[in-house]
Amino acid sequence: MMPSIVLLRYLLLWCCVSGFALLDGVSPRSVQGEPLSGSMWERLVSDAEQLHLPTAFLKNIPPDFIRFEFDDLRTYAAEYHLGEHRLVLNRSLSFNAAGRVLKPLSKMTHKELEVLYHELFHAYMDYLASTGGQTAGIDDASASLLDVARRLQACRYTDVAIAPLAHRQHETESRYLTQSESWEALNETWAVFIGWAIWSQLEVERKGGGSIIHQQRYLDQWAQRLGQAFSHGEFRGYYVPQDEEERRMTQKRFLAGQSQLTWEEAKALMMQVLGFSIEVVGHIAKSPGLSVVINAPSPC
Ligand SMILES: [Zn+2]
Repeated sequence: MMPSIVLLRYLLLWCCVSGFALLDGVSPRSVQGEPLSGSMWERLVSDAEQLHLPTAFLKNIPPDFIRFEFDDLRTYAAEYHLGEHRLVLNRSLSFNAAGRVLKPLSKMTHKELEVLYHELFHAYMDYLASTGGQTAGIDDASASLLDVARRLQACRYTDVAIAPLAHRQHETESRYLTQSESWEALNETWAVFIGWAIWSQLEVERKGGGSIIHQQRYLDQWAQRLGQAFSHGEFRGYYVPQDEEERRMTQKRFLAGQSQLTWEEAKALMMQVLGFSIEVVGHIAKSPGLSVVINAPSPC
């Protein structure tokens, strides 16, 4: 049986986050990345603002926190290495594909921006976790998001269902995750949602040039896409099993549909990362396609 388009997108496009040293997708030509200069970071943020993309969460990250690298990645579009704060992007995301600096966001495809935001979200969570959300310069929304993340890690991502076979999503198994596995599963699930939100926002907006926040019909279209993505089980992360025996079988365990993102998490991410107001989220929540996920019993 051939995997569905949704499944292929899930497996091939999204990146990985890892605290482990062994990662697939990095060629031996990798070189140590350079911290992003202040001016490059400012350009990234200003490019994002011009595209009506969220930037408030990015402004919490000091410019020199992330080490950017470019490489000819074969398996994934990008990788983020937690401990080293190292972000490896495919060379196609660099200026003139030269592998030196990030290309302007206006020159990126919607898929490339999805990948970039997925990775930047990993860096953001890495920064929050490494500072405990207590450092000066971290806004209230970010500090509170870290609290939400720690609470949900314990009550949502410790006992999960996984789908061991990518092409048999209905066959699931239970797993109790270690602390690092559950943190990785949460991070990946949330980054998948953020990347998707950016991609789908751009897809909706390109038809009319307006912002989904300011034009109700675009917001309605976005909410409809959100309902479809939930019903397709698109918001699922994965973790690298710590158990050596299990890691011999697979490098990644993908969560099953029943362990995908909950409405509570989506709501927190929409408000605290994407910058949606309570009114905007309230409007989205009225979309008929979201009633199943909104009314699902909360595991926490
Ligand atoms: Zn990732």
